[in-house]
Amino acid sequence: MVGAAIFRELCRFPLRVLLLDQLHDVGGGASRANTAILHGGFDPLPGTLMSSLNVEGLRLWSSWSRQLDVEVEWCGSLVLATDDEELAAIGDLCLRGRKARVPTVFLLRDALLNREPNLAAEVKGGLFAPVSGLINPFQAVIALVGNGLANGGELALGERVLGLRKIPEGIEVQTSKRTLPTRFLFNAAGVEADHLMHLAGEDWFSITPRRGQYHVLDKSIGHLVRHVLFPAPRKLGKGIVVTRTIHGNLMIGPNAEDLDESDLLTTREGLQAVLAGAKKLIPFPFERYLVAQFSGLRAVSSTGDFHLGPAHAFPGVFHAAGIKSPGLTAAPAIARRLVEMWQERMDLAGHKEVIAQKMDWDPTFRFPPKLSECSLGDRDRLIRENPSYGRIVCRCEGISEGEVREAIRMQPGATDLDGIKRRCRPTTGRCQGGFCTPRLVEILAQERGAPLSSITKFGEASRLTWRDNREPSGCE
Ligand SMILES: Cc1cc2nc3c(=O)[nH]c(=O)nc-3n(C[C@H](O)[C@H](O)[C@H](O)COP(=O)(O)OP(=O)(O)OC[C@H]3O[C@@H](n4cnc5c(N)ncnc54)[C@H](O)[C@@H]3O)c2cc1C
Repeated sequence: MVGAAIFRELCRFPLRVLLLDQLHDVGGGASRANTAILHGGFDPLPGTLMSSLNVEGLRLWSSWSRQLDVEVEWCGSLVLATDDEELAAIGDLCLRGRKARVPTVFLLRDALLNREPNLAAEVKGGLFAPVSGLINPFQAVIALVGNGLANGGELALGERVLGLRKIPEGIEVQTSKRTLPTRFLFNAAGVEADHLMHLAGEDWFSITPRRGQYHVLDKSIGHLVRHVLFPAPRKLGKGIVVTRTIHGNLMIGPNAEDLDESDLLTTREGLQAVLAGAKKLIPFPFERYLVAQFSGLRAVSSTGDFHLGPAHAFPGVFHAAGIKSPGLTAAPAIARRLVEMWQERMDLAGHKEVIAQKMDWDPTFRFPPKLSECSLGDRDRLIRENPSYGRIVCRCEGISEGEVREAIRMQPGATDLDGIKRRCRPTTGRCQGGFCTPRLVEILAQERGAPLSSITKFGEASRLTWRDNREPSGCE
C-alpha cells in the first residue's frame, strides 16, 4: 500500500517512475491481510509519526477514496471496557484523541447499547470515535497503482531487489532479473523494509514480524455489529476486534504473535484465541458461521514508531519502514511526507524542473462496473452492450463473467485467482469458490491464451490443476 501510494504521488512529476515488487501482483503483502480499518487517530502516542500520519491519512482518504473509486464506509468505532482498569485505559485514549485533535466521546453502557445492542453484559463503558471506518484495502492498492500507470508510471512484478550499489549517476539496483540504474529509490518493502535498509548500509533499525490471525464469518450475521468494536488496548496492540468487512461479512481478529521469521500459517491455538477474544465483546456462537481464515504480518519497528526519511549514507535512497497499523490509514500521508522530503532535496540541489507537477496529471481512477451495484436500467444496458455481464459466474456474490474478464484486462490486471478475487470478489462468498473456481480457471486461461494447467491461485507454487485430462498424459 505504501509503495503504491508513493508511486501515485511520484507519477505527478515529469519522471520515469517504476514500481517494483517481488510478487506476481500488486498488494500481495500485508496490505491484503489486515483488519481494513480507517483508524480514528486516538490510539497512537501523541507526538509520534504514527499519530500525525494517522490523522493526516484519515483526512486524505476521504478525498482520495472519491478520486480513486475506492469503497469506504465511515461507520465509526467503539473501544470497550469491561472493568475499572480498562475504563482508566479508555480515559487515556480520550486524552490522546484530544491531543491529536480527533473527535472522541466517552459513553456509558446504556448509550453504548443504543449504538450496539449485542454487547456482552460485562461491558461497562467505552469510547466512541465517529471519524473512523472501513476501507476496501485490495481496491485501494489497485487504484493507487492503476492511477500511477495511467499517469505514465511503469510496473515490474516478480522481481526482487537483491542489492544496492552507489554509482556516479545515483544507484545501481541489482534485482533477481537485471541491473537497474536509477537516481532515486523509495524503500516501502513492508515487513522486509529493514532488509533494504541493511542493503543501504543501515543496521540500526530492525523489524519483527508480528502475526495476526482472523476468522471471516458469514454475511448472514454481519448485522450483529454496526461499528468497529475494539477491546481496551493491550500490550501487544489493539486487541481482538469484532467488525464487518466493507462487503458485509463479520470478521474477528487479529491475535498477536511475535515471530522470528515471517510465517503466514494460521494455527488452531491462534484461531481459538481469536474466538475467545471476540466473545468477550459479543457473546455469540461464532463457530457456527465460520467461512474462512487468514493471517497477516505486522512490521513492528525497533523504535516503536514509523521510520521515514532519506538514508543516512546512501544518497538518493528514501525509507518508509516499520509501517505497522495504522499504516493502511496513514499510507497517503506517508507518501505525501516522503515525497515532500524528496522535493526539498531536489529544490536544494537546484533540480526545480523535476518537482513541478505535470500539467496533464489526472488524480482519478475508475473500476469497471459492478453488476450488483447497478440499477436495473444500467444492468440492462450493460448486458445488452456486453452479454458476458449477463452470465453469472459467482452465485454467492452475484459476480458476472464480464466483471471477471474486466478484472483480468484492467491495468493492473489479475494474473491469478486471488488477483481476480481482490478485484471483483468471486470466491469470497459462502462456498469460498467451491462452485466458481473451475469457471474462473477457464476464463483466466482463455484471457491469457495459456493452458489450464498454468493457472495458479496465488503465485508460482499454487497451481490449481495438474493437467487437462482431455490432453494425452504422456504416461500411457
Ligand atoms: C494483522 C494486521 C492488521 C492490520 N490492520 C490494520 C488496520 O486495520 N488499519 C490500518 O490502518 N493498518 C492496519 N495494518 C497495517 C497495514 O496493513 C500496513 O501498514 C499497510 O498495509 C502498509 O503495508 P506496506 O505497503 O508497508 O507493506 P506491504 O503491503 O507488505 O507491501 C510491501 C511490499 O514490498 C514487497 N517487497 C518486500 N521486499 C522486497 C524486495 N526485496 N524486492 C521487491 N519487493 C519487495 C512485498 O512483496 C510487498 O508487496 C494491519 C497489519 C496487519 C499485518
